[in-house]
Amino acid sequence: MRLTILGCGRFNITANYNSTGNLIETERVNILVDFGRGCLYSLTKLGKQVGDIDAICISHLHPDHIADLLTFFQIFFNTCADKPLIIVGPVGIQQWFKTMVDLVLEPVPTKITIYEQPLTAIEIGDVTVTTAVMKHNVPATAFRFEQAGHSVVYSGDTGMNENIVSLARQTDVLLLECSNQPGQISAQHLNPEQCSDIATQAKVKQLVLTHYGYDLTKTNMPFNGTLVIAKELMTIDL
Ligand SMILES: [Zn+2]
Ligand SMILES: [Zn+2]
Repeated sequence: MRLTILGCGRFNITANYNSTGNLIETERVNILVDFGRGCLYSLTKLGKQVGDIDAICISHLHPDHIADLLTFFQIFFNTCADKPLIIVGPVGIQQWFKTMVDLVLEPVPTKITIYEQPLTAIEIGDVTVTTAVMKHNVPATAFRFEQAGHSVVYSGDTGMNENIVSLARQTDVLLLECSNQPGQISAQHLNPEQCSDIATQAKVKQLVLTHYGYDLTKTNMPFNGTLVIAKELMTIDL
């Protein structure tokens, strides 16, 4: 399994960062995990086409996590009429997809399957996907991807909560949002100390920080495992 960072920024525009998005690849499937502004360019830089994507896992419906999906769907609806596509997301994802269909103004492929939380584990090719409800100002979900004895957990946007610790238990890679600056506390986002705390409690091997809108450094982070700050097109192989 390979994780590639397609974007690691927030909603604010900077020259350096796309909004948030990721790609999970195995030999059998390609799964988008959020797809904010600029992520379609990153996907293209990897040599992937829209038609290569088998599933889209969406943490929540804020535009910095979904903005490039409108263009994605225009391409997919026009060129992938017979291709199956799985969409997984929080409460409201079914209704949101209807809105996207209204905006794209093209015939919808018939093989699209949508899974809305709450849900039990689902299989996407050779990947098992489980979810947990997160703490944000809109319905939000975190994802755990498991394949061949390895795992990646992605928080999406969230404030501190117990569900992310449980979902991330002993994972190989924990990809956490780190919107807040050191010492900054809010109910809807995490700061570096809280990220470090979650990774330590969950006993994860590698902590990757993403979704940051400032010059994030590794100071004030007591986490003992491997600590990485996400950059666009960074890959982690498991
Ligand atoms: Zn958000
Ligand atoms: Zn966000």
